[in-house]
This record gives sequence, C-alpha cells and structure tokens, in this order.
Amino acid sequence: MTDAVDSTDQPTPRRKPKPQVEKIGGSKLKPSTLMMGHGYDPALSEGSLKPPIFLTSTFAFDNAAAGKRHFEGITGLREGGAEGLVYSRFNGPNQEILEDRLAVWDGAEDALSFSSGMTAICILMLAYCSQNDVIVHSGPLYAASEGFVAKVLAKFGVTYIAFPAGADRETFDGVLEKAKAQAGENGGKVAMIYLESPGNPTNALVDIEMVREARDAALDPSCPIAIDNTFLGPLWQRPLEHGADIVAYSLTKYVGGHSDLVAGSVAGAKRWMDPVRALRNTMGGITDPNTAWMLLRSLETVELRMQRAGENAEKVCAFLRDHPKVEGLGYLGFLSDARQKDIYDRHCLGAGSTFSVFIKGGEEECFRFLDALKVAKLAVSLGGTETLASHPASMTHLSVAQGRRAELGISDNLVRISIGIEDAGDLIADFDQALEQV
Ligand SMILES: *Cc1c(COP(=O)(O)O)cnc(C)c1O
Repeated sequence: MTDAVDSTDQPTPRRKPKPQVEKIGGSKLKPSTLMMGHGYDPALSEGSLKPPIFLTSTFAFDNAAAGKRHFEGITGLREGGAEGLVYSRFNGPNQEILEDRLAVWDGAEDALSFSSGMTAICILMLAYCSQNDVIVHSGPLYAASEGFVAKVLAKFGVTYIAFPAGADRETFDGVLEKAKAQAGENGGKVAMIYLESPGNPTNALVDIEMVREARDAALDPSCPIAIDNTFLGPLWQRPLEHGADIVAYSLTKYVGGHSDLVAGSVAGAKRWMDPVRALRNTMGGITDPNTAWMLLRSLETVELRMQRAGENAEKVCAFLRDHPKVEGLGYLGFLSDARQKDIYDRHCLGAGSTFSVFIKGGEEECFRFLDALKVAKLAVSLGGTETLASHPASMTHLSVAQGRRAELGISDNLVRISIGIEDAGDLIADFDQALEQV
C-alpha cells in the first residue's frame, strides 16, 4: 500500500483500526445494524467503503519475530491462535470480517467459515471424534451428513446411535445410556451429540433444551452439543441460547440467499472452535476470498430477505392448507402435534419458508404439479430469493432405503417447497394453476 502524503524515510506506523462501536447509550446494536460495518475499518484499505477482495496466498510479516509469534499461535505452541494474517489456508481479511459478522448473528464468541456446509460439518465431526467413539445424532439428517457418519467415520471405528427428532426426555435418556454402554464396550467415549432441527424434509423439531439437560445429567461436559441450524438460522432459531454449544450452517442456503454460492460455517465459544480451527488449518477448507465477500453482501440483507420469505410462506401455506388437492402441510406455522408445538414455542422465532406439501395422490400427481409450475423453479436447495420446488422421494432422498424413507415420513406424495421473496399473490396464482393440472 503506498502513501502519497508520507515522503520521509521513516516507516509509516501501521494504521490502527478504529475501535468498534457495538453499543449506543448502553444498548447493544442489533445484528442488522452491525452487518454494515462490524469487523472492517476503511482506513486499513485506502478508505474503500466496502472491503476489497484480498486475492493473495500469503501475508508479509512486520519482522521475523512477528512471523515466529504468528506460527507459535497457529501451531498451538502458544495459546490464543494467530494474532494476524499469515497464510490464506489459515485466514484472510475477507474471511475474518465474515466470521466476525457470522458470530454476531448467533451470539457466538467465535465463528469459522468453510468452502461448503459439508466441509464445515465433516471437519467439525473429525475434530471431535477419535477411534472407538460414539456419535449420538437426531434423525433425519441431511443425507450427506448421515452418510459421513455412517460410511466415512465408520471406516475409522466411530459408531453412531440415531434418535427420532421429536424424542422426549425419557427416550433420549435411554439413547444416552445405550451410547455410553456402546462407547464403554468399544473403549471410547460419547464424542458428540449432533442435532439437525428442523429435520429435512419433514421439519421435525428437536428439543434442544431437553438435550442439554440430559447431556449435563449423563455425560462429561466435554462432549459438545452441535446443531445444524441451516433451515431456521440465523433469524428464526438461536440454538446457543437454548443450550447448544456449536451451531453449524450451510451458508449456501438462507445466509448466501441468492443461489449463487456454496459455503458453510460453525460458531460457538472459542474453546469449542479451537480444535476445529486447528484441523481446518491443517486440511484447508476455509471459504475463498470471493465467496467470503459475496457473503458479506448477503449478510447485509439476510434479515430483510428472511422476513419477506417468511411472510410469503405464511400466505402461501394459508392458501395451500384449504386446497382440495392438498392432503396436508409440513409447515412449522401450522403445527398440530402438541409436543412439536411446545418445542416450536420455546425455540423458534418464526416458522421459516421451507415446508412440505402432501399432494393427494403419489409420484405421478406430484410430477404433474411440479411440471406445471411457471414461477417456482424445479430444483433442490432452499433459502434463495427465488421459490424452488422438488420431490424428495425421487431426488434428494432417492438413495435412502424405502423402509427408512417411510419411517422418516418421506412419502411419494411429498413435495418440498422453499419460498422466495417474489410477490406472494403471484406465487399463490402459480400454485393454484399448477394444482389444477394435478
Ligand atoms: C444444504 C445443506 C447442507 C450441506 O451444505 P452444502 O453447503 O451444500 O455443503 C447441510 N445441512 C443442511 C440442513 C442443508 O440443507
């Protein structure tokens, strides 16, 4: 960086970042406000109002001793990690701003960004599991997460026990007892409780508070509770406030929000993040600078987008609920099960915009509906600005065995819909005409 004003031979002192404003008059600024500036000081980048994209693989050290100190932090010889920018597999300016802002949304001390949701989840699990350990997880999980546990971790002697998302305390206590016994027999430990709530595609909710109480009663507190919050986060569910230790995301979905990038993250207290960061430093998998920059743009509107999508979903679901060709809805706004409603009331701040609709009939009727849609697009994924529809039984969950699919409630007449930010009236008109073709 050149400095035209300074023409002396004296080295210019590094311009220090301005202190961050996080409060005004004693009240904390809200995440939607902080997204416009938190973690970035234009003075460090030629006054550029927005952060530039830093395309560099490595960073110049002030002097040799500083370089040594950085590596003491990176390698764990010194507590506290890196104190500055070192090498782009470890950190970078765009990624650090992104991670600071992601932490704000979840009220977390620290956050780490990754090249995909699955990179985040796989590195998280690898960081906590050793040979002979047991993972306890809710079901259903995102298919790739379930596959990573059952097929990949299994190769390294890690076993698992799955429990149904809606489990009550008694059932869950039994699951933990079984997991402890299994770990004892194998000579390992219960390494992680991994949740996904709501589950995909049924929207079954896990009682995080119950899981926390049961974990505290039965297990060593060094066994973290992690949760994939992709479907409701960061706006509609804040798991760290309900007892989870680590929150994981596919940022590809609502956070990215424009169906134009793939990324992931984990967040939590620094002590939970440290082993994950260390493994990411070794393996790589950090977001690239361009994607991190795009996510910064996305985060400025995430609240607006999610609010609008949520309002649209409520209107669309109100229309679908009474439609003669619709058998039922898996929408968190219309829960009839008392247990699920209770979890929803305690944990959720909104019903989201991803839900399932059960069409009267089977695959044939669903395909006719999907093929007739004019505004909604036929694609997997969710949380984008545009409305998407898909048929899980024949697409995302095709690889799940028929019996397991039935157990999870993924029937042939289920269509999954992710509502975007279009005009609600247009969306209703589109679903109306498509249902006429069924
Ligand atoms: C999409 C998704 C993932 C995987 O994220 P990628 O960014 O595609 O790797 C994990 N969990 C849930 C719930 C998802 O929807």
